[in-house]
Amino acid sequence: MGKSSLLILPGDGIGPEVMVEVRKIIDWFGSNLGLDFDVTEDLVGGAAYDAHSTPLHDETMAKALNVDAVLLGAVGGPKYDNLDFNLKPERGLLRLRKEMDLYSNLRPAQCFDALADFSSLKTEVVSGLDIMIVRELTSGIYFGEPRGIVTEGKERVGINTQRYKESEIERVARSAFELAKRRGNKVCSMEKANVMESGVLWRETVDKVHQAEYSDVELSHMYADAGAMQLCRWPKQFDVIVTDNLFGDILSDTAAMLTGSLGMLPSASLGAPMENGRPKALYEPVHGSAPDIAGQGKANPIACILSFAMALRYSFDEGVEADRLEQSIENVLSKGARTHDLLGEEGITPLSTSEMGDAIVEALAESV
Ligand code: NAD
Repeated sequence: MGKSSLLILPGDGIGPEVMVEVRKIIDWFGSNLGLDFDVTEDLVGGAAYDAHSTPLHDETMAKALNVDAVLLGAVGGPKYDNLDFNLKPERGLLRLRKEMDLYSNLRPAQCFDALADFSSLKTEVVSGLDIMIVRELTSGIYFGEPRGIVTEGKERVGINTQRYKESEIERVARSAFELAKRRGNKVCSMEKANVMESGVLWRETVDKVHQAEYSDVELSHMYADAGAMQLCRWPKQFDVIVTDNLFGDILSDTAAMLTGSLGMLPSASLGAPMENGRPKALYEPVHGSAPDIAGQGKANPIACILSFAMALRYSFDEGVEADRLEQSIENVLSKGARTHDLLGEEGITPLSTSEMGDAIVEALAESV
């Protein structure tokens, strides 16, 4: 196999600032461990609109479909708020997700020990936490027909439809089982089979995929409301959670906040395997373009760097190097390094975006 290819789309606001720090990490892996990527960079969002009058140029879309992974910073900003709906920066991101058919959204909730105090839960509940929520991203109630607001007699009725095909459940279930095999080998599937037929089909289909292809992975089922309670009571009981679009939206935000700041949260969206066996993949921090701090060197680059760590693990089969990168971040934080979003105690001078990137590169250098 040739060099792994990576398309970098820094985007807007703090996107380009945090991406500079990711480039330092990529360069370090290339120079020190011979991990060479064929990296190309292009525009998305407002930056693409400024250059091409569209939030995603067709050529950029074509590139995204032909690389092993895409890494995106963030899109959006007040400058673009009054554009037509189809020209808004977010449309660029949505087009990428749609045309790459990214049906499996991975949102890890990982608590770095040094930041355990940041959680609203007790330290012992979150310390060492490492779970993964897999949310179905392209179907379910956000897309089902019929939908709309209609008038029935004297009043209006709002309608959305939860609809899942077996094939849609099967593919996201496979994605969750495959992930579990690289982690703690446990999947918990969440739905509301007690009150929803789509939940009954979800449960039966996950069971069918499990029995046929993944009987070596431990599988359990939980109603999504009970799952929400368990996530707040004792989240460490979970390894991988797989759930539908709506429940996943809520459960992944709940789980993410167990661990503290938006500046620390990575994500991945995966699609079907390509010819080389790797899934189509888009990696991005959960945060947006943060116009309130853009251009001030205040952005925390860790969410974007952790998104690259996910790319190492899930697109490039470099799990050991992903561990190295995550451990280096843990080491930096445990020495007390903080960007301004992570300041809790008094008396700590925050690192700038670029100082945090340099500190992580130094920690990487100490790891070999
Ligand atoms: P945001 O995530 O950009 O910012 C929310 C708050 O968190 C802000 O106070 C910001 O300063 C802080 N923050 C976010 N990331 C940080 C980081 N890495 N380090 C330090 N602090 C950080 O959300 P918002 O303010 O609601 O949206 C701003 C713009 O971003 C909007 O145009 C919105 O549409 C867009 N947005 C884009 C994405 C994306 O690209 N995936 C996601 C969410 C919002």
